[in-house]
Order: sequence, then structure tokens, then C-alpha cells
Amino acid sequence: MSLSVRWRLTLWITGALVAALVIIFFVLSFALRATLTSDLDDDLTGNAEQVAALLLIRGVENQTAVQEVVDRFSVGGLRSGFVLLVRDEDGSLIAASESIEPDEFSLTGGEVDRLLEGEVINRNLDIRGDESVRVRSSRVMVGEELLGIIQVAESTDAISTTLDRLRTLFLVVGGVAVVVAFAVAYWLSRRSLRPIEEVAAVAARIEASDLTRRLEARGQPSEVQRLSDTFDAMLERLDRAFQQQRNFVLDVAHELRTPLTALQGNIDVLLMSEGLDRERRAQLERMSGETSRLIRLTTNLLYLALADAGHELDRRPVELDVVCLEVYQILRDIKPDVKLRLGNEDQATVAGDRDLLKQLVLNIVDNGIKYTPAGGTVTLSLFRDEAAVRVVVEDTGRGVPPEEISLIFQRFHRGGEAGSRGSGGAGIGLAIADWIARAHGGEIQVESEVGKGSTFTIVLPAERIEEASPGPPASRLDPSGARNVGGAR
Ligand code: ADP
Repeated sequence: MSLSVRWRLTLWITGALVAALVIIFFVLSFALRATLTSDLDDDLTGNAEQVAALLLIRGVENQTAVQEVVDRFSVGGLRSGFVLLVRDEDGSLIAASESIEPDEFSLTGGEVDRLLEGEVINRNLDIRGDESVRVRSSRVMVGEELLGIIQVAESTDAISTTLDRLRTLFLVVGGVAVVVAFAVAYWLSRRSLRPIEEVAAVAARIEASDLTRRLEARGQPSEVQRLSDTFDAMLERLDRAFQQQRNFVLDVAHELRTPLTALQGNIDVLLMSEGLDRERRAQLERMSGETSRLIRLTTNLLYLALADAGHELDRRPVELDVVCLEVYQILRDIKPDVKLRLGNEDQATVAGDRDLLKQLVLNIVDNGIKYTPAGGTVTLSLFRDEAAVRVVVEDTGRGVPPEEISLIFQRFHRGGEAGSRGSGGAGIGLAIADWIARAHGGEIQVESEVGKGSTFTIVLPAERIEEASPGPPASRLDPSGARNVGGAR
């Protein structure tokens, strides 16, 4: 599992603080120990000097006198003062404080030699198992003459206690600091990441179909502002690319439609001529069928681009029964071995775009014929009741498997084993039909049984004639008329 940036930041900041505290603690306790030890050494030096001064006066020959000096100085013992030992130049004990075990303070031969040369040896010693003392050993001289060796020792309890206090202080204060730092770091990272989250939320709302939107972040921290500006610039480029692609499709579809329509017209004229033998006529009819399919395909492409461009419908009363009749006339001979017939034909008017509605019916009926094998029938009916107008296209074709029904309205989806490539489909017919139905406030319902046939029902809200705006039922897809796709075939 990967941690969010917010948690990472929080943990990093807290971790850095803990590391800093640990380093500070070790440096501080090291420095404190060194200072306190040096103070203790100074203290021991002072004591040793006092003892030495007295020994100089009394001499070291008389052991009882030396013991007296020792006892006088080490009254408090290790508990409240210091203890001391006096040795001769060989390191042999002359006198020692009563409270101590002299063996624990014994000197090695090497140490005695170093002391006799004038070195002062300070070292820590653990006595009686658990008590720690600092021992200062040094020689005592009378002019040029060596008097002996004295060892002065003091407990290091004060140092340990101070260091223990420091540790406790660090644990308590550090613990609180870590908790506070954790909370502050979490709050800070949340606060500084909020603008990014806001940008991400806006970005998530921008869909491919709506590339005109921009994040337009203002007054954000500079990094977020840069991210937002970069994102906006990318949207701008994408929008331009999409627009170019749409315009390209529009132009290509439009450019193709004109010669195709002319071709269709010419073939129709040829078909009218008398004296055509049967074979020629059949050939011409096949050509006419294919050309009309090409025209429908280019018209679908045109509408696809219009749908993407957010085309607004121009609503006028459309007599759907007439539209159905026209579709029937266009498609009835398209596949000679599939019979297209008209079923129930109520009179019905809907508010909408005539060309689009015609394309809608054409696409559905065309599919019915396309996916119905030889000998089958496609029935086109129109029903009207108070609320709705229904165009019902029933076929006896291959049917749509239930799991595919939700997919067939998606763009470029082609069902069947080999897709519908063989039948010239591009997988956009139903997507366009669905868009047109929805744009008119309606929908397309599908009932289908594999191997038996399908029923596609276009449901459109019925038009109340008096509300419809008057005017010629001309297409308004393009006010210039340059891309008038009227007469879709
Ligand atoms: P196509 O250009 O492939 O016909 P459509 O969008 O018109 O594209 O249809 C999508 C898919 O839906 C088709 O490929 C086909 O599998 C399935 N389909 C559409 N209409 C029918 C029908 N009447 N009978 C069986 N399958 C159909």
C-alpha cells in the first residue's frame, strides 16, 4: 500500500524532529558530562592541595599522624564529601579513609611510575559494585624531595543524577514535542496539499466531451498555480485538437456527401430509363443500394461530429408518419431477399429536427435489414398515444445477446462474431440514433432474442401541435446551408 503525500510529509517532518531531538540529547549530555567531570576534577585538585599542604607540615613518617590528617579530611566519607588515601613512593598504603576498601583504589606499578614522574591521573572507578567515584591520584613533593602519593576520590552521583534528569526532561518534553509536531505537520501538509486536491477535483469534473472548461486557479501557491496553468494549456491544446478532428470529420463527410448524392441521382435517372435488361437493372439497383448506404454512413459521421460539437436542436413539428414512409421508400429494395413492410401507421407529429429524426429511423430500420438473413422480414410501425409516439422496428434477424444490449449503443461497438465490418457498418449507427432520440427527449428500447429477432422501439414525446413553432421544416444544422444534410438517404 502506498502512503498518501500528506502522510508521507507528516511522517517525514515528525521523523526529522525525532532525529534532531536524539542528536541534541546526545550532544548535550556529552557536553554536560564533560563539564561536570571537569568541575569535579577541579574540586578534587583543591582538596588534594589542602591535604598535601597539611602533609607537608606533618610529614609522612608517622603513620598515626598521617591517619589523623586523613580522618580529618574524610569526615563525611563518600556520602557528603571525599575520601582519601596516602601512599609512599612505592605505592604502598600509609593511611586511608575508614569508610573505604583501600584495595579497590590500588595502583598498578605503571601508574605509580607515571605518578612519580609528576603525572596526575584522573579516572572513574566503580567501587562496592554499584558506587561510581572519580579518583585523582598525584604525587606530593617537598621542594625537590618526594613525600608520597595521595589519592582523593569523590562520588560521581551528582553527575549521574544531573544526566538522569536531563534524560527524563528530554523524554517528557521530547514526547510532547513529537506529538505536537505530528499534529502540526499533519495540519500543515493538509493545508498545503488542499489546493492540489482542489485542482484535482476540478480536473476530474472536466470530461472529454467538455474540453472548453478550464481550472483557472487564481491566487494559489506558485507550484499549484504552475500545475493549474500547465493543465489549462494542455486542455487548450486538446480542445484545439478535438475541434480540428471534428472539423475534419465534418468537412470530409460533407465533401463526400455531395458527389455521393449526385451519383445516387444519376443512378436513379439511369434506372428510370426504359430498355434496360434485367441484369443491368439489377446491377444498377445494387449500385444504388450501396451508394445510399455510403450516404447514410457519411451522414452518420456528420451527425457524430455535430453531436460532439454540442449541436442545438431546432425544434419544429415533424410528421413522423411521412418520415417513416420516406424511410420505407429508401430502404424497401435495399436487400431484395429481406422484406421490409409497413405495419401499423398512426399519424403522429413530434417536435424536432426532421433530418435527424429521419436519420434515426433510417439507422434503426437499416440495422434491422442488415442483421436479418435472407427470407426474413422487417416491420416498421408507428403508434401514437396521448403521451408518446413509438416507432417500432421489428425484425426476424439474428438478435442481440442480452449481455451486449447495453454495449450496442456505444460508439464503434460492432457485435457479432466478425463484427459488422462485412455488412459495411462502422459501429456508429446506434450511437447516433441514441443521441438523436435523447436530444429529442426520447429513448430507444430494445427487446431481443438471439436467433429469433429484435424489436427496437423509438419512444418520443408526442408533440402538441399548438405549441410547435411555425415555419418551414428545413434543417438548421448549419445556418449557411452549406452543410445542410437534408434528404438523408
Ligand atoms: P453497425 O455499423 O455495426 O451496424 P450500429 O451502431 O448500428 O453499428 O450497431 C451496433 C451493433 O449492434 C451491430 O454491430 C450489431 O451487432 C448490433 N445490432 C444493431 N441492430 C441490430 C439488429 N436489428 N439485430 C441484431 N443486432 C443488431
